[in-house]
Amino acid sequence: MITVLQILVVLLFIVILIVVVFKPRKNASYHLPDHYKDLLQDYVNFYTSLNEEDQKHFHQRLEKFYAAVKITGVNAEVEDLDRVLIGAAAIIPVFYIKDWEYVHLKEVLVYPGNFNVDFDQAGNNRSVLGMVGTGALQNVMILSKWELRQNFISPGSTRNTAIHEFAHLVDKMDGTFDGVPEILLTRKYIPQWNFLMTDLIEKIARGETDIDLYATTNQVECFAVICEYYFMQQQQFNIQYPEIGRMLQQVFRVPANDHN
Ligand SMILES: [Zn+2]
Repeated sequence: MITVLQILVVLLFIVILIVVVFKPRKNASYHLPDHYKDLLQDYVNFYTSLNEEDQKHFHQRLEKFYAAVKITGVNAEVEDLDRVLIGAAAIIPVFYIKDWEYVHLKEVLVYPGNFNVDFDQAGNNRSVLGMVGTGALQNVMILSKWELRQNFISPGSTRNTAIHEFAHLVDKMDGTFDGVPEILLTRKYIPQWNFLMTDLIEKIARGETDIDLYATTNQVECFAVICEYYFMQQQQFNIQYPEIGRMLQQVFRVPANDHN
């Protein structure tokens, strides 16, 4: 026999279910400005080199990124250009990977300039230009507005701190932060990948390459630094480092003859 208490418990359960299912979801407040295509055309070479259909796809990916990730200025005004460049830096590495989402990233904080490792904006050691958070800040990325703009605006730049930080997130996606993008690299290629990275780090250290010395820090940084170069100057990278270029093409599913 059903008691009043049982009926009440069932009703309560239904109410909780309704509240959970129909809870209003927080949505990102940012929508692309009317002139965003001009901004992409003017500052993002990767976008300019895409055909019309791929450019439309790029726009959709941007919308999806803004719906998932909040961009907040910390003592810095975040303008449309900054939002468009951050979105572009997020999409560029994973553009050819269908359905990719930076699942752990919730917010990008934009600082006006460099900051130190404790996220202070003032002080002597203001050397950090970008960072993906760890521990309590693991859903956060921090970028310098000045650096973000400089990297996209400078013609011929092989550096891009924002792309660097998103490459770290790609590396972290498999659960290990080791400079080996296992989630995207077929297992059988991992030994070859490790060999190429070790060899490259030695060459960079000997000054035999045009790759930023920061890549010699370790394999994690090497992966992020070569991603910057690869996505900023793909043709040049493929000529200089053909074997690694072919690996990165596989990792990021870049179609053959695209950007090269
Ligand atoms: Zn790094």
